[in-house]
Amino acid sequence: MSGIDTVLDQALLLGAAFKESDGIFAMRASSEELRDMLVEELPWQTSDAISVLRDFEQRVLPYCKNEASAHFMGFGDTGNDTAALAGGILALFVQQNLINQDFDSPSATFIDITVVRWLRDLVGFTNIPSAQLRNVWDTGGVVTSGGTMSNTVAMMLARERKQPGTIRNGVGNPRRFKVLVPEGIGHYSVRSAMAWIGLGDQIVSVPTDGFRYDLHALEEALRDNAGSVMSVVAYAGDSRTQTIDYLDRIEDLVRSIDTDIWLHADACWGLLCGFSESLQKKLLGISTFDSITVDPHKVMDIPYTMSALLVKDPESLKTIASFSDLIMQQDWSLGQMTPFVGSREWSSLKLWMMMRSYGRSGLQKLADQRIELVGYTYQRIMTEPRLVAIHEPDLVAVAFLYLPHDYDKSSVRVQDINRANQWIHKQMLERGEWHLHQFSIADNNCVVSDGAEIYPLRFMAINGRLTKEHIDGMLNYVLALGKEFESMERKS
Ligand SMILES: *Cc1c(COP(=O)(O)O)cnc(C)c1O
Repeated sequence: MSGIDTVLDQALLLGAAFKESDGIFAMRASSEELRDMLVEELPWQTSDAISVLRDFEQRVLPYCKNEASAHFMGFGDTGNDTAALAGGILALFVQQNLINQDFDSPSATFIDITVVRWLRDLVGFTNIPSAQLRNVWDTGGVVTSGGTMSNTVAMMLARERKQPGTIRNGVGNPRRFKVLVPEGIGHYSVRSAMAWIGLGDQIVSVPTDGFRYDLHALEEALRDNAGSVMSVVAYAGDSRTQTIDYLDRIEDLVRSIDTDIWLHADACWGLLCGFSESLQKKLLGISTFDSITVDPHKVMDIPYTMSALLVKDPESLKTIASFSDLIMQQDWSLGQMTPFVGSREWSSLKLWMMMRSYGRSGLQKLADQRIELVGYTYQRIMTEPRLVAIHEPDLVAVAFLYLPHDYDKSSVRVQDINRANQWIHKQMLERGEWHLHQFSIADNNCVVSDGAEIYPLRFMAINGRLTKEHIDGMLNYVLALGKEFESMERKS
């Protein structure tokens, strides 16, 4: 390992400079150009690590997307927290394997368990006193690789609730395992999860209103599918507008019809509400759900990847336990409760470091800062005649449209609005100076045309480097691109 210090010093300097750089991209190239430059045969000759590092610096790094840049406002995955970065690096070094405890990860296992308990606390699940923890089955959650895996584990739990023993016996009649999701705002991972766990496509999409379940429609769907609903999935912050559903009302309704249905809340984004007392009320009812997905790599500035599935009843995880000679059936072997995974990296150390350094008060401040910035953005959008938000921000995202100059709601031409916004987004991607996300969604609040498919731009206030000046800069950029679109249209 000689020279390890210089190589690692250089790697760290390179990484830090990358994160601190202002722009989103240092260089852009087409997929074909990058393919031709990078896909190559393994060289015969040996190189020292420093020269490999230099090669990476020159040929690979300049094309990497920097979500830590304050110009990047499309998502929240900044990976920016210094303590979390330190945790990620140390986890690489100490190479613990979370599959087993006593030999493989004597202390790391308990950090994993601690982090799960902290996350449970944020969403309002209660924890037993630490001295009463007897084994992993008392933890009440599992650390996973991402929201997709957490949702998949949740669907497995729902399946075992619906038909106990399916894990051993296989699926009988898949049509008895229906899952209700809100139409047009659900995350694809639930549908994928159903396919992966052998249930096929049993998704029932329920109409929405204001990016939440239409509760009458939900009641109707529950009655129409009586006896064959395995789970109802609700979003505490959907992946588009981050609207938080009326979780307490969903719980009341579902339980009044069928107490066996597995209620799953996807709080990939909603976890943020747990940071601050003023936001916690938005999660009202979530702690009565059977399971909750949280995605710290989206809302807590920690590097990829780390998510958790939290369960109301810790015992429920026993229904999907795996046993083998390799995963020792010992009290503290986490491998028993992580389906699909054998050896497991210590991803929770990043979050442990982040949360330890912030503390409760720090998390509260973090949430308040983000809420202030999204409020500012929303105000700016709503006072700008050419812009309109498609929803009031419930969390830290706001999706909005640029309105071309001849816009008039009485004679709306949605396709013109869409064309302008899609062009703006395409230019943003090509030029790479500022970044907002774009998706298609039904105009659920009747902002331009009721129910029409629209293509808004989506801003998110998570990056701690973001200031009001950045937000002004981004909005001015959108407006300038809009003008450019209009003059181009006039010419053609
Ligand atoms: C991002 C997201 C997921 C998937 O999470 P990954 O970490 O990307 O696997 C699931 N649900 C919602 C609501 C999300 O926003």
